[in-house]
Amino acid sequence: MKIAIIGAGNMGGSIARGLAKGSMISESDIIVSNPSRGKLKELKVNFPMITTTQSNTDAVAGADIVILSVKPWLIESVARELKLKSKQILISVAAGISFEQLAHYVVDPEMPMFRLIPNTAISEQESMTLIASRNTTNEQELFILSLFNEMGMAMLIPEDKMEAATALASCGIAFVLKYIQAAMQAGIEMGIRPKDAMQMVAQSVKGAATLILNNDTHPSVEIDKVTTPGGITIKGLNELEHTGFTSAVIKAMKESR
Ligand code: NAD
Repeated sequence: MKIAIIGAGNMGGSIARGLAKGSMISESDIIVSNPSRGKLKELKVNFPMITTTQSNTDAVAGADIVILSVKPWLIESVARELKLKSKQILISVAAGISFEQLAHYVVDPEMPMFRLIPNTAISEQESMTLIASRNTTNEQELFILSLFNEMGMAMLIPEDKMEAATALASCGIAFVLKYIQAAMQAGIEMGIRPKDAMQMVAQSVKGAATLILNNDTHPSVEIDKVTTPGGITIKGLNELEHTGFTSAVIKAMKESR
């Protein structure tokens, strides 16, 4: 299985590194194209077996899967330039570009396609990757899911849920980081050193997420465990509600759709 990645920026580079670290694709079966040499050289430092090229058409010749990882406004020109074959699988990571649009940019609109939205934690193999599919077989879907499950967690969703899910999982990472930043500010005001505050908050966020994911519990169950009647946690939780925390998060998510 040979994979071509078109665009070696933040996302394309992270996907290339993630695939190379994973067990399903051999490093030498990955080919990455980018117009500038700098990004390609950076990739080669830790992954010398990845093939790099400045030619998009060279990259896709012989590839089974082609991942488009250029900015959304470049998707049309790049997809048209590639003239992909019907048996190749097209994956677009471009936010906001629909299957309907993609179908107009390729030679065969019936070719198998995936839309994929990872988040920036893909560089740490901890992405929440959203996947929608069109004209694909179950086997192809399972393969792509397994490939991206190696870089965190991947979930197949209908295309019409892509925007809402992007708000939760892709924009959502910025909201969680904002919480970390705010909590750090509080810690610093209370006399904790910035670096210590960052580790305390970040590990607490990681712990909360791990509790939910490992035990498949509901957040309210875990909140209940740390909320003693008359205790300090409930005071803080109620203060969050007085200041509109839940409402602010809901509004932010809906605004990011
Ligand atoms: P980026 O600017 O870091 O990377 C894009 C790369 O494409 C650059 O290295 C650029 O040199 C290269 N490029 C430009 N023209 C090209 C061409 N004609 N052929 C080949 N390569 C070309 O951008 P990014 O953040 O990696 O975003 C890439 C895509 O990923 C976007 O469509 C974006 O919507 C999607 N995406 C990004 C994120 C994110 O968090 N960054 C999340 C989900 C989806």
